Amino acid sequence: AALVTTKGSAMQSLSPEICDINILNSGRTTKDFIDNKIKELGKRDSEEPFYVADLDVLYKRHLRWLTNLPRVKPFYAVKCNNTPTVLRMLSALGTGFDCASKSEIQLVLSLGVTPDKIIYAHTTKPLSHIKYAGTHGVDMMTFDSADELLKISLHHAKAKLVLRIAVDDSKSLNKLSTKFGARLLSVGKLLERAGELGLEVIGVSFHVGSACTESLAFKQAIADARHVFDIANSLGFQMSLLDIGGGFCGRDDFQVKFEECAEVINDALEEFFPPDSGVQIIAEPGRYYVESAFTLAANVIAKRVIMGDMNEHCDVEENSPNRMMMYYINDGLYGSLSCLLKDAAHSEVEPYLHRAVKSSEQRYRSVIWGPTCDSIDKVTDSYWIPELHVGDWLLIDNMGAYSVSLSTDFNGFERAHIYLAVTAETWQVLNLSDS
Ligand code: PLP
Repeated sequence: AALVTTKGSAMQSLSPEICDINILNSGRTTKDFIDNKIKELGKRDSEEPFYVADLDVLYKRHLRWLTNLPRVKPFYAVKCNNTPTVLRMLSALGTGFDCASKSEIQLVLSLGVTPDKIIYAHTTKPLSHIKYAGTHGVDMMTFDSADELLKISLHHAKAKLVLRIAVDDSKSLNKLSTKFGARLLSVGKLLERAGELGLEVIGVSFHVGSACTESLAFKQAIADARHVFDIANSLGFQMSLLDIGGGFCGRDDFQVKFEECAEVINDALEEFFPPDSGVQIIAEPGRYYVESAFTLAANVIAKRVIMGDMNEHCDVEENSPNRMMMYYINDGLYGSLSCLLKDAAHSEVEPYLHRAVKSSEQRYRSVIWGPTCDSIDKVTDSYWIPELHVGDWLLIDNMGAYSVSLSTDFNGFERAHIYLAVTAETWQVLNLSDS
């Protein structure tokens, strides 16, 4: 319980009733929860897709962060998964929040988070959102251009500004520095402009790109940030904050382990920003916290059997191994799986059958489609699995990042419902229940 650092309103609002959290008693696991949910839906003749969010994973990931990056305070990136209970739990654990817009700020404030725990980490902000931040006490915000400085000086002159720099993101699967971040050559001018406008610049931020495959990218970026601190010092600015952004892997089968990045970061901090520098270090992890916490369950709603030549009208021998299967499930690229198009770190998924599968079962080449009328809505191609039947359930792991927050109800297919589960043991450790 000592690890839960925030007491007060966020804690109280995390009661199982308010958050609709399912406490798993007597050794029940999320797998048991999924089994029961599927049975229950069957009884109701319902086949709605759903996620199960395993809050134990979230908690363990937080402990892992504290152990490995003790100097770095996480400000969770809300855009990655904005499920209110996830935000409540992170708040109760003591994280801050990276918000990208007025409505993300509104959401986080509505959960009882205080404005000092928020960084408005978007460098190109609508005026009305800057004003909203200003009137609600959200002072920390990023910038990377003189135009943004002017907007901020007019609408939130008391802001505590963080200069975002472009860093080498060539080793990350999703790049960001083409769109955001000041070049090192221009930081001197930007800082001078901030001074002329009477603005306070408190620090530097960067983002090495999402799903960073090279831990040394963090070292180079921290060295670049040190260079900016030195320029600022020479111009008479006293900066006190370094924000090392996101980019941390969210699953353990990723090519670079979190611990490896953490070691590089700790060494680089020691070299460039040792504790006696007095610089506070924060980060904006998104997928690190949530990616492996969510499992998606989708239902096979339709099926077509095709012969190899795509002509389904020719004679199909029952059980012919040459048959190609087409399955249609009730979640897809317009719903939870837009990552397949937009997230280079998650450009394929491996759905597996919820029911037990015998190793002797014949596998067929299968295409799995999403439910909408669009042929781009394809989940997997040439995927070898046992024969599925309408009504079967498929599960997909590691579905917590850039899924929930990107899904639409295109064609009228409902977004997947989110069920939250936590074991009684973890719930007790968190000491969050009223009992
Ligand atoms: N911070 C900013 C400014 C971002 O744009 C993003 C992702 O796009 C994040 C943090 C979160 O990144 P990640 O999910 O890689 O940790």
